[in-house]
Amino acid sequence: MEIAIASGKGGVGKSTLSAAIVITLAKRGRDVIAVDADADAPNMHLIMGLERWEWEEPYKESMVAKIIQEKCIQCGECQRVCPYKAIYMDEEGFKVNSIICEGCLTCSLVCPVEGAIVREQAVSGVLRTTKTKYGFPLISARLNPGRPNSGKLVTEEKTKARELADKDTVIVVDSAAGIGCQVVSSLAGANMAVLVVEPTPASFNALKRVHKLTKHFMQPAAIVINKWDINPTLSEEIELFASRNNLDFLGKVPYDDSIPRSMALMAPVIEVFPDSPASRALLEIADRVNSILDDWMIWFLRFRPKKPEPYKPIILKPEGF
Ligand code: SF4
Ligand code: SF4
Repeated sequence: MEIAIASGKGGVGKSTLSAAIVITLAKRGRDVIAVDADADAPNMHLIMGLERWEWEEPYKESMVAKIIQEKCIQCGECQRVCPYKAIYMDEEGFKVNSIICEGCLTCSLVCPVEGAIVREQAVSGVLRTTKTKYGFPLISARLNPGRPNSGKLVTEEKTKARELADKDTVIVVDSAAGIGCQVVSSLAGANMAVLVVEPTPASFNALKRVHKLTKHFMQPAAIVINKWDINPTLSEEIELFASRNNLDFLGKVPYDDSIPRSMALMAPVIEVFPDSPASRALLEIADRVNSILDDWMIWFLRFRPKKPEPYKPIILKPEGF
């Protein structure tokens, strides 16, 4: 069973909610795995107060060009043709900026010296796991600046989680912001999506976009409104949107400075300020997710999007037939 937490817009409380859900599920006796699927800006480990990783592996996915200085005759042809302007010159000679290089090897086609430009695997990031103090594993990844294939890295994280999971394990995926490839990879294969929104026009708009993605995956989706009381009118509109679109409404979290204070303490808010209004709301939401998991099959059948009508071709008969 896999739950993806997404929002479309960043900074609306996805990771806070993900941490609250995964910790509560673990406390209710469920076997859980947390996946931080924001490889550009991972922060789940910070929320959980983790500073060390038990296992780390370099993520080598893409290829970049490398100039062999001993062979290079400094003609500059490679720099002239590089479509990404990834070749620069310093006091030692021509070099490739591996952050910009796309590995297209146009440079090597024009290089007059055989073997002066080679292609090598670039370390694009790191995949890592550790055990949290709550007993469940956290899988995280970090992409190096400018490297591509972030969606593939998220898929690697989820593959790792699925390898560790039993049939009853609940994998909670804290996805990245936006609707890019990391979010697509986070949602792909998830049994349910929880969408977090703040009552601001930007966040509501982003929610609609990520909701379209869940519809594409034919996923049951539910909504949580964070800081609902900063704009009660828009919060009502979001609730209306949820009911019109068959989105389960899991609850709303009030604005509460215990959340930023818990982040400063590098601890989940439900742990350090359990009696704060935000923590109480988050716990209720997490318990609602827990009961959905109990009978999620019924829930899934209730919210499963209707199958489209079978396509009926219109046959036009030529005149006289
Ligand atoms: S491989 Fe392509 S992007 Fe990289 S340096 Fe050569 S021409 Fe530029
Ligand atoms: S084209 Fe080849 S020889 Fe010329 S500067 Fe580039 S690497 Fe050196």
